[in-house]
Amino acid sequence: MSEETIFDKIVAGEIPARTVHETDTTLAFLDANPLAPGHTLVIPKEGYERVRDLPASLSADLFAAVHELTPRIEAAVDADAITIGINDGPAAGQEIPHVHVHIVPRFEGDGGGPIHGVAGSPPDLADEELDDIAASIRDD
Ligand code: 5GP
Repeated sequence: MSEETIFDKIVAGEIPARTVHETDTTLAFLDANPLAPGHTLVIPKEGYERVRDLPASLSADLFAAVHELTPRIEAAVDADAITIGINDGPAAGQEIPHVHVHIVPRFEGDGGGPIHGVAGSPPDLADEELDDIAASIRDD
């Protein structure tokens, strides 16, 4: 479990939030600094810091909530699409150490980009390096 964060206080009802969905294990509420109308955060009620820390069943519950909410959010704000993302770790931009999924409504011509824009310059990797990386991920 992670240190107590503002999201634990939202789960406990100690600070207000615009809740849009709740299950036994997850909570979803509007982001206080929305990137677009309808920008929603979906969290596990228990405060795990990183995706890798989540028990598998809670990870499944979290994605089930994302799956349930995405079309509802898209319809509610009449969006054209949705970007779904997790800043998983400080180097990726995670500011609150309690796993949270961003659901960001997208609109034609909104000036944003695809998720490919989140990293720096793309590396130029040789075939051998790609083979090595794939083998490491497979744990050969
Ligand atoms: P991160 O950078 O950690 O991925 O995103 C944290 C998100 O939490 C930010 O988008 C920020 O606007 C949102 N946030 C921070 N504090 C609060 C809060 O007290 N209430 C709500 N609803 N959102 C918050």
